Amino acid sequence: MEQRFKKSEKLYNEGLVHLVGAVNSPVRAFKSVGGNPLFIKKAKGSKIIDADGNKYIDYVLSYGPMIIGHRHKKVQKAILKALKKGYSFGASSADEIKLAKIICDAFPSTDKVRFVNSGTEAVFSAIRLARAFTGKDKIIKFAGCYHGHSDALLVAAGSGLATLSIPGSKGVPEEAVKNTLIAEYNNIDSVKQHLDKHQDIAAVIIEPVAGNMGVVLPEGDFLKELKSLLQSKGILLIADEVMSGFRSKFGGAIDFFEVEPDIVCLGKVIGGGFPVGAYAARNEIMEMVAPLGPVYQAGTLSGNPIAMAAGISTLLELKRQNPYEDFNKNAERLERIIFNAATENNIDVVVNRFGSMINPFFTKENVIDFKSAQTSDTEAFGVFFWELIQQGLFIPPSQYESWFLSSALSEEDFEKTEKAINAAMKKVAEFKKTIN
Ligand SMILES: *Cc1c(COP(=O)(O)O)cnc(C)c1O
Repeated sequence: MEQRFKKSEKLYNEGLVHLVGAVNSPVRAFKSVGGNPLFIKKAKGSKIIDADGNKYIDYVLSYGPMIIGHRHKKVQKAILKALKKGYSFGASSADEIKLAKIICDAFPSTDKVRFVNSGTEAVFSAIRLARAFTGKDKIIKFAGCYHGHSDALLVAAGSGLATLSIPGSKGVPEEAVKNTLIAEYNNIDSVKQHLDKHQDIAAVIIEPVAGNMGVVLPEGDFLKELKSLLQSKGILLIADEVMSGFRSKFGGAIDFFEVEPDIVCLGKVIGGGFPVGAYAARNEIMEMVAPLGPVYQAGTLSGNPIAMAAGISTLLELKRQNPYEDFNKNAERLERIIFNAATENNIDVVVNRFGSMINPFFTKENVIDFKSAQTSDTEAFGVFFWELIQQGLFIPPSQYESWFLSSALSEEDFEKTEKAINAAMKKVAEFKKTIN
């Protein structure tokens, strides 16, 4: 055991007794990079600090929500103000209206929102709604896209599952996935084939920019072609923007590609670090949801006042900062840093990025779908990951996760990042020598 991770190790061993694998989400386990997970003590701005007091520049950002950095003053103030008024009311409060308006203004295809408590909940509710609206049962999802852990969507579902090599999940009955069809990302023909064969398709769900097999962008007119194909058949397009929302603009990734979704799913950023998810659509669709319509969907803590306050203050600050040009510039800079370090050390790396999402794949193949993502050298990634930890960079412990940029990153952070990545690529090169 390394001295500098002593407290994390101790907590990990204690955690194993009453927690499953000492984590509450499998992506937090360091299974795919080897070794044990770090325990975190606190975070501020662009940094996160582990139980032993080691400080890291944070490129995980709680898997996306902390887009303006940790513990932003304005957000903290809003949360404290809300805390003084009560924690949960079991009745509506004004902030729910406020956050709903911010979201509907940011997503032009939406008139109404329903808040839930996670991205998973947002997505499975959206699917129920799409089925009710169309009167059809089948859905299409893309291999490598993750849409939460509900039964019907745990098929070919990207990072967590890809990393753990679980084909779907035990405990999901065949019944539950028999209406889920799988298509290939960036392959419109793979969608057409399903449409030719099946008449009863309610919806296609997609991450407009995929982030759960690593970052994969839609190529050319893929999203536009998808939309027009579906429109001609009365099939709904569900944009799962739980990760991609608010990354490249104040709104959806799908707007960036000038495609109008029928239902939008949100999470992560809109809760500012608290458990908030949402689904939203035009009136015609949302009026199907109870109490206005026959689609039942409920939640004891949905629209929680503390979570709403965190979400509103995060989004207002994000809007004020408008960091999107900086995100692009910084992601471009990071891409260059990674690419140069890789080239210098003769390592094949492909970097994909979109707004504040970026990640390198240890492969020479163009990564455009799940298959090409999986050509990556995950062992090399593990070496890279651990040297970054040593150097003070916290990135997701999986080849198949996006890194996230916060608007709190400083010039100093970038200089440190460059040094760390150079050192880590050297380690990867040394590792490759030892196995050849
Ligand atoms: C994270 C994520 C989800 C699930 O959200 P949870 O809040 O973890 O339930 C769904 N879809 C996408 C695209 C995600 O990135």
